[in-house]
Amino acid sequence: RMSVRKITTGSKALDDLLGGGIETKQITEFFGEFGTGKTQICHQLSVNVQLPEDKGGLNGKAVYIDTEGTFRWERIEQMARGLGLDPDKVMDNIYWIRAINSHHQMAIVDQLFDMLDKDNIRLVVVDSLTSHFRAEFPGRENLAARQQLLNRHLHQLMRLAEVYDVAVVVTNQVMARPDVFYGDPTAAVGGNVVAHAPGIRVQLKKSRNNKRIARIVDAPHLPEGETVFAITEYGVRD
Ligand code: ADP
Ligand code: MG
Repeated sequence: RMSVRKITTGSKALDDLLGGGIETKQITEFFGEFGTGKTQICHQLSVNVQLPEDKGGLNGKAVYIDTEGTFRWERIEQMARGLGLDPDKVMDNIYWIRAINSHHQMAIVDQLFDMLDKDNIRLVVVDSLTSHFRAEFPGRENLAARQQLLNRHLHQLMRLAEVYDVAVVVTNQVMARPDVFYGDPTAAVGGNVVAHAPGIRVQLKKSRNNKRIARIVDAPHLPEGETVFAITEYGVRD
């Protein structure tokens, strides 16, 4: 795994927890309740991947697959300014794609295999991985079909990560009380949607004010433990 490269999150503490940052050739999943910062981290990484290598970036571009309509160009602008970068250039280097259903979401990733070959894309975000699948295959009775499709999607993403040396970052919204989600075990905190895919899983929790807690879940090569980071006007920071 010598050729793995890393993208800074903007927080030294969170980078340290991740062993230096978000890795290429790998899927990293951020999961947690609503408002824990999953989408903020995805925005920040889409900016940070563009930084030169000595600043924690990969001099690359980002693809942002947005399934919930929560992507905001204004937020990208703010984060670019926070790093002293030209917001227009930063926005030019992010391909925002709105996925309207799970079928579309998977078709987009299929098409990326051609696109990544020709362009210097080093980050692919799927925010969120699970929302369309949950909406289209609700409840326990559809669980098997949904998991099968999600697994196919994850394998597709894993292949993309490995073949093109890109970091794949996915989000997964979970609930504190799974019983309110009609007996869907994958909606529980830690629900094993991604458990069978190779990758890194990071649980996010709210703390005081703008602080968030991140914890790595079952990654044998990373130390156990948790850390605190902040979401500020200018983005993810210590
Ligand atoms: P989710 O995990 O649901 O994707 P988000 O990433 O959307 O959560 O996080 C939303 C939170 O991020 C807000 O509640 C707020 O605390 C913080 N946030 C969003 N935009 C800003 C901003 N411009 N300045 C400061 N904090 C912000
Ligand atoms: Mg979100």
